[in-house]
Amino acid sequence: MHALVLLTAVTALARMTVSDRYHPDEIRREPISRMAPPPERDPSYWINEAEAGIRERLRRRDNRNVARNIVMFLGDGMSVPTLAAARTLLGQRQGRRGEEAKLAFETFPTTGFSKTYCLNAQVADSACTATAYLCGVKANSGTVGVTGDVPRYDCDDSADPANHVDSIAVWALEDGRDAGVVTTTRVTHASPAGVYAHVANRHWESDEKVRDDRGDPRRCPDIAHQLVHRSPGNRLKVILGGGRKEFLPIDEYDEEGFPGARGDNRNLIKEWQANKQSEGVSHAYVWNKQQLMNFSSSPPKYLLGLFKNSHMHFHLEANQTTEPTLAEMTEIAIKSLSRNKQGFFLFVEGGRIDHAHHDNYVHLALDETIELSKAVEVAKKLLSEEDSLIVVTADHAHVMTFNGYMERGGDILGVSDDKDKDGIPYMTLSYSNGRGARRQLNGVRVNSETHGGDDVGVFARGPHHDMFSGVYEQSQLPHLMAYAGCIGPGLHACGNGCDKKRP
Ligand SMILES: [Zn+2]
Repeated sequence: MHALVLLTAVTALARMTVSDRYHPDEIRREPISRMAPPPERDPSYWINEAEAGIRERLRRRDNRNVARNIVMFLGDGMSVPTLAAARTLLGQRQGRRGEEAKLAFETFPTTGFSKTYCLNAQVADSACTATAYLCGVKANSGTVGVTGDVPRYDCDDSADPANHVDSIAVWALEDGRDAGVVTTTRVTHASPAGVYAHVANRHWESDEKVRDDRGDPRRCPDIAHQLVHRSPGNRLKVILGGGRKEFLPIDEYDEEGFPGARGDNRNLIKEWQANKQSEGVSHAYVWNKQQLMNFSSSPPKYLLGLFKNSHMHFHLEANQTTEPTLAEMTEIAIKSLSRNKQGFFLFVEGGRIDHAHHDNYVHLALDETIELSKAVEVAKKLLSEEDSLIVVTADHAHVMTFNGYMERGGDILGVSDDKDKDGIPYMTLSYSNGRGARRQLNGVRVNSETHGGDDVGVFARGPHHDMFSGVYEQSQLPHLMAYAGCIGPGLHACGNGCDKKRP
């Protein structure tokens, strides 16, 4: 008797609930107007789309040329969900549903995944990853341009040249090519520092920070000092980004009235100018967009642009008359470096995707990603696929999720159609930690969102782009680029696929 009652109750319950509690089918009861437009409902639309995709792949030729020019674009914290969300926002800004849109690099012929962990960290930071994707070795979290023998904060170990690793910029310079750095962060921040610095702590951007960790800046020069006075920093033809304070004394004020951060009373901007003066080379220091644009047709041999006291503003919050966009900086950098017929290596960072994610400002993170895409578009237009390799990737992921069961074309920045068990809606783009995350049971949560440990995408176009397919260690990236460009100490393509070791 009891068993029968129970069975009846269970059957009734099953009828009342949805067929699959993991994939409920009762979320929406939308009118037909919100269904996909008629062309997309026709199977031929997707069959044609697929055939275009096949033809596109068939048109691709193996490109076995030497990569004379190499441009690496780095979206700091540009996780795979960030790409999906950013392309959707891009499409929606263009008045479309959005999901079908493409970022500039999503048309590149080769994609891969890079594994981002560092020697002592399952989830990476931007310093050890910069060492991986620029110098080609994995290192300890927080360290830049040094081997895994250097623990974080260890001034003495980091000062030993035996523990230094060269970046691909050095390999390019040693081959007679030029090199440059463009970023939206301080030019001394962890990612760009990977191009030229060797430090045991990414935060040693000025001498004061070295002293804060009881280091001696004379033994362990800060990152700004290395950029101005050491090779390869002092050989970079283009340096564009933010971070004036790391170059100025504490009691000096920059052009916009903000104080410097250095305790050694040195003005490294003036020292950079004096160095170039003594070398007898044309050079210019610029601090606003107008000054930069004045050089757009004929940049000096050496160009230093510092457009903010600290990081540059988020694009959506920037003063458009004083701060250049990432695309504008990229254009001038490529034009400047292209004058060397041997070729060049350029590092371009969309550095503030990461900061926006940390603050759970998802619209800013997506907009910064779209800005990076615009910069890639500039490079695609200026550089030929025949002799220029473009690689786009990220250093690490973030914990933004793209979740719920939103309707096609639904506002990517909006509330999901779906609701929590308590009937409360949540955002399609949510964070699993950080200030925007839902309150924890004990009422405690950290205020800043963290990086994610998942793989990040790699997109490649140009000579030997096919080398970038697969799932591999992030530290392979500079070796792959160097292979395509026939630079550096490792394996080289050197045209016609004849692999050889350089003496
Ligand atoms: Zn970060």
